Amino acid sequence: MSTPTDPTAPAIDGPVGQPVGAARRPPREVLRAVFGHDDFRPLQGDVVDHVAGGGDALVLMPTGGGKSVCYQVPALARPGTGVVISPLIALMDDQVQQLRQAGVHAAALTSARTPEEVREIRRDLDSGALDLLYVSPERLLLGGLLEQLERCQIALFAIDEAHCVSQWGHDFRPDYRQLAVLGERFPDVPRIAVTATADESTRRDIKHQLGLTGARAFVASFDRPNIRYRVQVKGQARKQLLDFVCRDHPGESGIVYCMSRRKVEDIADMLRKEGVDAVAYHAGLAAETRSSAHTRFLREEGVVVVATIAFGMGIDKPDVRFVCHLDLPKSLEAYYQETGRAGRDGLPAEAFMVYGMTDVANLRRMVDDSSAPEEIKLVERRKLESLLGFCETTRCRRQVLLEYFGEAADACGNCDTCLEPVESIDGTHWARLALSAVYRVGQSFGAGHVVDVLLGKQNEKVDRRGHDRLQVFGQGTELSEKRWHSVLRQLVAQGLLKVDMANHGVLRLGPREQVVPVLRAEETVTLRADPEKLRPTRGAQKTGGRRAPAHDLEGADAALFEALRAKRRALAERQGVPPYVVFTDATLLEMVQRRPRGTSEFARLPGVGKSKLDRYADDFLAVLNG
Ligand code: ADP
Ligand code: ZN
Repeated sequence: MSTPTDPTAPAIDGPVGQPVGAARRPPREVLRAVFGHDDFRPLQGDVVDHVAGGGDALVLMPTGGGKSVCYQVPALARPGTGVVISPLIALMDDQVQQLRQAGVHAAALTSARTPEEVREIRRDLDSGALDLLYVSPERLLLGGLLEQLERCQIALFAIDEAHCVSQWGHDFRPDYRQLAVLGERFPDVPRIAVTATADESTRRDIKHQLGLTGARAFVASFDRPNIRYRVQVKGQARKQLLDFVCRDHPGESGIVYCMSRRKVEDIADMLRKEGVDAVAYHAGLAAETRSSAHTRFLREEGVVVVATIAFGMGIDKPDVRFVCHLDLPKSLEAYYQETGRAGRDGLPAEAFMVYGMTDVANLRRMVDDSSAPEEIKLVERRKLESLLGFCETTRCRRQVLLEYFGEAADACGNCDTCLEPVESIDGTHWARLALSAVYRVGQSFGAGHVVDVLLGKQNEKVDRRGHDRLQVFGQGTELSEKRWHSVLRQLVAQGLLKVDMANHGVLRLGPREQVVPVLRAEETVTLRADPEKLRPTRGAQKTGGRRAPAHDLEGADAALFEALRAKRRALAERQGVPPYVVFTDATLLEMVQRRPRGTSEFARLPGVGKSKLDRYADDFLAVLNG
């Protein structure tokens, strides 16, 4: 069942899926035999049973939640070829590689295929030899492919990254709109749309645009318990990053997001000088440079990619141990999606962000200046408020995130505010002073001058304007300069103050209806008690739980893990695939813990299906018994 175009395809007798017209195969058997998993995750089983039984489904699961299983298993359990529509070549190729390793006959019909390869794939499709066909939406509608599919037996249509159909989502792809045609032309073939983007408007749009109004919706918890969230106020951002990368995550692979291309390159340089294996990635780099960065990140261990958000979608690498934001993301959705790229393998991972007032102001300005219609701007402003609320919260960060996605949650015990609770205070008095000061200086000065006035600092600017005669002059000496800056930043975050970036960053009052009640002391303002103290990252060391799993191994176990990794690396290199395609870290860790001695014990390891058992058991058993 291997195709000549694929040197990595395994040699296994007979298709893993069903020949056309054959009886159905139990989904659990497929899960065990092909993917080596003993059980479905919560909800996966329900989705799989529903779709394998011919039902339509809309599946919302967080990144790393295990969405692929939701369509791959029913596709293999049902007779015929499963057709997966996916927006990115990188995503398709990655999945096809993984499936082939698992002994599945999968192919991706993309612009990267040669005409000969395309013919080959279409021949396999006709003969019913293909278990899974990946295709981009534009490709699906071209070259008579739909007509060909109508002649074939189709197990199901899966629409991956289904939020691309919605203009509310962040990756709108107009071609997705045309996928509604599938329901019309293939009324008897089940369709399953999957996405990690959950907000209500996007969800409605997906159903509507794809004609999936009758589909059953499956909404998984969006919690990613293995990710620890940490947010710090920007002090010396570079030092904060270095501490995080070099001290907490040495030798681990991760992503560092920055807003500008220039900064991406600067930060990558800085990390390299400190001995981190860092590569830069942004849309302005030559295609080869980008693709080499991408490939190194996937295929080597311990590479850190410093990138703009151009890097990310289509990264299925399971062992990304951290995601850092040196600039604020656009919204909490974007933040959750970006941080969700950490720890897909379920092992401990960390999301780390630093932010400052300039970031806040920049984002506000971007919204204000955009040419979008007012109703869209309104939504974007609300999204920004939520993001800032998350940064400034004194509550459990996971709770804030999950509540944003409409889910109730208990305090998690695995975020910075849970591990080292921040006190909040009634800051109404300070807020009033700050707001009055901004007002009294005519809403025409930046934070520095406002703080000088509050602290009663006599200087030339103050003298010249006569600001030392203001009532608020010197009224704020109880707080340090740093704390005043923090108060101002929090007021900006809460929308009580605005920063006018077009005008040298002068501070202005927020909307009247919000500000007046505070000035009249009718509304209270809650502030973090000591927000600018850069909180130590002790948590990471104290529990040890966030470090890469290998860091927790000792002595013989650590040595064995390294030997298994070396074996994995060699096998992966020989086939030109990323190491995780051979086995994930989770499977290697199980090997260390269980020490299987023979093939039957090896076969019971999670992540070891029939194909991988045949291909790799001997190699790894030799290391284990060596
Ligand atoms: P998503 O597409 O939702 O981001 P994936 O389908 O890539 O997630 O799955 C994430 C990881 O979880 C993969 O490494 C996959 O092997 C693993 N996984 C998925 N389902 C199961 C399961 N039932 N048991 C064990 N591991 C699973
Ligand atoms: Zn928490």
